[in-house]
Amino acid sequence: MKSTPGALPGATGVPKPRPSFPARLDTGPVAAGVGVTREIANKSMPSSAAGKKSFDSALPVGVGLDSSAVRAAMVRKLAAMGISHSQVLQAMGDVERHRFVDSALVNQAYEDTSLPIGLGQTISKPNVVARMLELLVHNQTLPMGRVLEIGTGCGYQAAVLARLCREVYSIERLKGLHDKARDLLRPLRVPNLHLLFGDGMVGFVEGAPYAGIIAAAGGDAVPRAWTDQLAVGGRLVAPASLGTAGQSLVVIDRTPTGLVQQVLEPVQFVPLKSGIA
Ligand code: SAH
Repeated sequence: MKSTPGALPGATGVPKPRPSFPARLDTGPVAAGVGVTREIANKSMPSSAAGKKSFDSALPVGVGLDSSAVRAAMVRKLAAMGISHSQVLQAMGDVERHRFVDSALVNQAYEDTSLPIGLGQTISKPNVVARMLELLVHNQTLPMGRVLEIGTGCGYQAAVLARLCREVYSIERLKGLHDKARDLLRPLRVPNLHLLFGDGMVGFVEGAPYAGIIAAAGGDAVPRAWTDQLAVGGRLVAPASLGTAGQSLVVIDRTPTGLVQQVLEPVQFVPLKSGIA
């Protein structure tokens, strides 16, 4: 494999070998004794025809027949809302968001709205997903190298990320959602996406350093483990409540001389919680 000029350390042509299976989180105070199971999203695939049939039967007329047109309209709206990165827009247009929401919500899948995904969690608005991805990839040569996502949820953002990165590790603390994401992603066959069940507060040290880290849940601070696991030249994008003003989008770059933090617009994400459940 050739190395890409100007790419991040995590994106070079000599990738660190993948962690061996089963992977296990570093045991820190938060993760002590918490095992992490690692699964590849396309493992033990049923026939895609079977997956498609059961899914399409849940689609109301108008979404199922030509969801690509609905997605194209969503992408036009995202562009009108200020998303300008062509590969991010392309990836948003490629991934079928309706596959990731309950059948009763399918007709809202391409609206700019967050939707419940079970266990009190939500899939972010398309505009927020696209904004965070645009911040993450910023001026990099794509595909990015190895990226860590904290908060797999239903797996939608992970599927979009996988189109922009060489390798994605996505970690979820709720077993029910980890299993749901695995089932939803299986028919999509995403070989560069690895699902992990565990506490993402401690990151996933076996895959570090990361060219990018993106979190879909926010706490009072950005965990130190995340910045420690960021490659030099890498970028972290996460919601966090750093002051009294509520939650904001935070971008942290690891530069050769240290961490550089930007606090951007207010956002509303579910809480980052420790431990597994
Ligand atoms: N990107 C997701 C959004 C999921 S919502 C999607 O496309 O569906 C945020 C997720 O973060 C929730 O599923 C929540 O359980 C998870 N989460 C919160 N704290 C976490 C932690 N410490 N480790 C891993 N996942 C966490």
